[in-house]
Amino acid sequence: MRPRIVLLGGGIMSAAAALEFRRAGYPVTVLERNELASGASGANLGQLSLFDRTEPWHHALACETFSEYAQLGDAIGYQRSGGVVVLQDEAQYQGAVPVCQTLRSLGEPAELLSGKETRRVEPLLEDSVIRGVLYCPNEGKLDPLRTTLYYFRQAQKCGADIRLHTEVTGFQTAGGRISAVQTTSGPISGDIFINAAGAWSGPLAQQLGISLPIGFHRATAFVSQPVPPCIRGPIVGGELFLAHRDMSLHRHIGLGGVQTANGSIIIAQATETSDIESRDVTLPGLCLTARTFLDHFPTLADLQIVRAWASVTPYTTDGLPIFGFSRDWPDLFHFTGFKGAFSIAPAAARKLVQAIRDGADLEGGSFSPDRPIHM
Ligand SMILES: Cc1cc2nc3c(=O)[nH]c(=O)nc-3n(C[C@H](O)[C@H](O)[C@H](O)COP(=O)(O)OP(=O)(O)OC[C@H]3O[C@@H](n4cnc5c(N)ncnc54)[C@H](O)[C@@H]3O)c2cc1C
Repeated sequence: MRPRIVLLGGGIMSAAAALEFRRAGYPVTVLERNELASGASGANLGQLSLFDRTEPWHHALACETFSEYAQLGDAIGYQRSGGVVVLQDEAQYQGAVPVCQTLRSLGEPAELLSGKETRRVEPLLEDSVIRGVLYCPNEGKLDPLRTTLYYFRQAQKCGADIRLHTEVTGFQTAGGRISAVQTTSGPISGDIFINAAGAWSGPLAQQLGISLPIGFHRATAFVSQPVPPCIRGPIVGGELFLAHRDMSLHRHIGLGGVQTANGSIIIAQATETSDIESRDVTLPGLCLTARTFLDHFPTLADLQIVRAWASVTPYTTDGLPIFGFSRDWPDLFHFTGFKGAFSIAPAAARKLVQAIRDGADLEGGSFSPDRPIHM
């Protein structure tokens, strides 16, 4: 009899893990305090990126994930659209040169384009205000809500027990082990507890006296009415990965945009420091993001905006995920902090099952929850 797995959180990481554990024959319970995908997984752009996955382990997880998504196709709104990182100036362009070379050494047909060449991949992108783009033809997009619900539905069909409106409020421990979690629906016992609560994994771990090397910020997005196809792939600003980001700054504004299958354009990136439960959309966040977007897509100035939202999303200061058993609590495994989690979730979930079943590690323990990190 396999040990019972209790997954804490109902986002994409938990969804992918629930399905993989069921496929491997483990009894699975999922505990979500609200609705499924009510955290960051229901709030994002659905961008699938490679530009920020230049280490072989990371690139391999993304490739495995994208080929799984390609097979699921319409069920999750997947499209291999290609994607661009917009390089604003010479410094960003030069910073992208080694990134492009590394991607090519990993077999990616990545290209650096400048001037009018950029119109070949994004015809409406205003080339006069940028230095160039890094184009990755294998990047793509999906519908993040549909994807998360798809994985949960499959897990449920395979027998996963999914409990909504069940908030984990504490842990019952005895003899150095966790016997159950306390929840708003009473205690729920299990053998292995997986902390997959995204931005909330830190506060959850804190309840056991564990200080996880994870932070969070609030990210904002807004969406337009549907318009005819005009943006091919996900667009992201080069500042996201080329410049050093000072996470102590209250607000970062960058370029971000994706056109969905129904024609709506989702525009982002304002990231701001906030309270963990904040879903506030700020006027400066909205205005500055809109200004940045319009500087790059001036012909879309008449877009009608219909809705804006925000959610906190996790990050780690070293950019690496948190993947491993807790040193002090041998039945607690942390599975969180993966950047742009949609690009790797199903493949990472398979690594999680291997770690639990075979004791296999990912990258020789580099992602240990106990690694020293300056927050
Ligand atoms: C505006 C925005 C744009 C983004 N754009 C992209 C993008 O284009 N591509 C991409 O890959 N990523 C993007 N991201 C990041 C991406 O959304 C996250 O990496 C991903 O959703 C994290 O998934 P998760 O399962 O770890 O966490 P979440 O989806 O946040 O799930 C955690 C869940 O745990 C639940 N929970 C918390 N505490 C408890 C508790 N005590 N008990 C029970 N349940 C609890 C929460 O309610 C939540 O549902 C974006 C994020 C935002 C906010």
